[in-house]
Amino acid sequence: MGADRKTCDGGDVVLPFRDAVSRMTAYVPGEQPAPGSRVIKLNTNENPYPPSPRVAEAIRRELADEGARLRLYSDPTASALRRAAADATGHPFEQILAGNGSDELLALLVRALVEPGEAVAYPYPTYVLYETLADAQGARIVTYDFSRDFSLPRALFDTQAKIVFIASPNSPSGTTYPVALLDELSRALPNSVVVVDEAYADFADENALELARTRPNVAVLRTFSKSHSLAGMRLGLLFGSAELVNGVGKIKDSYNLDRLAIVAGAASLGDLPWVRDNIAKIRASRTRLAAGLATLGFDVLPSSANFVFARLTDAKRARTAYEFLKARGILVRYFDRRLLDDGLRITVGTDDEVTALLDALEPIS
Ligand code: PMP
Repeated sequence: MGADRKTCDGGDVVLPFRDAVSRMTAYVPGEQPAPGSRVIKLNTNENPYPPSPRVAEAIRRELADEGARLRLYSDPTASALRRAAADATGHPFEQILAGNGSDELLALLVRALVEPGEAVAYPYPTYVLYETLADAQGARIVTYDFSRDFSLPRALFDTQAKIVFIASPNSPSGTTYPVALLDELSRALPNSVVVVDEAYADFADENALELARTRPNVAVLRTFSKSHSLAGMRLGLLFGSAELVNGVGKIKDSYNLDRLAIVAGAASLGDLPWVRDNIAKIRASRTRLAAGLATLGFDVLPSSANFVFARLTDAKRARTAYEFLKARGILVRYFDRRLLDDGLRITVGTDDEVTALLDALEPIS
């Protein structure tokens, strides 16, 4: 194991991949149809509304003089973005790390904290990337199955792992975990870092940001991909203690965020009324979507995110519903995985998209 034998230009070369990399399978992102294709895209939890107009203005300013500024490297500390995040949250500026999407921050955490062979723990099912990152590091993966209602498995409180990942709200269930419980978890595991992945927290009633201030072993992650409508800019933030942020920051690429992303993120944080307005619209559509799906016979988990997980009686019916929608130009996410294969994860779109989805499902309900 460890080296793939490949033929290259007639010569025999051995590509010296690490064993862990040879063994792992790559993360498979949700399908991205070609731009301009006429599909209703409810499969990757993007925001159906555009970002604040201030974002495009800020990008245009950054591109002034025919893009002359692009000649120069971006700010390695992404200060403008972190300052705006500190102003918006009250979290100390020095204790915020900016990432190229929260996916980059998740990867940095694993690389900074976990030796090959050491454990990474999380409940199952959750965001699949945790598994990919742990595999790439050669970590030992410890998972605890969620029960059917997706409450937090108590066994997590006794786990011995370098990192415990909790997505709250969780994907693909949409279920959320009380701050008091996450606080308790971080106290029960003083030798672990509890990573609270809050990609969807802006759509919830509660978030755990205060734990990033009060608990030295808690990292809270946020993304601009969902509530800020900026998935294409690749922007994420890590909030934590000074020690945690400094340690993880040591291994980041110097210029991990480009110039356009930094000004875009700062501009969006400068227009929170715009973001909040979109969140309110999505929450209202979520209520309509969940009620409509329930009427059609789906069992819908209570969601605090910008998507819902809706179950049917069995995997065959769920897959059929997925294929049926796809054939009608509506993309949702189907996971052919244990404990998930009887449901669909459906992103909350505009009200028109929600109507189109519910109408399309009517004949097979
Ligand atoms: N965490 C969770 C739970 C997610 O679902 C996603 C989106 N796929 C991310 C993190 C990644 O977000 P980003 O676009 O900031 O990398």
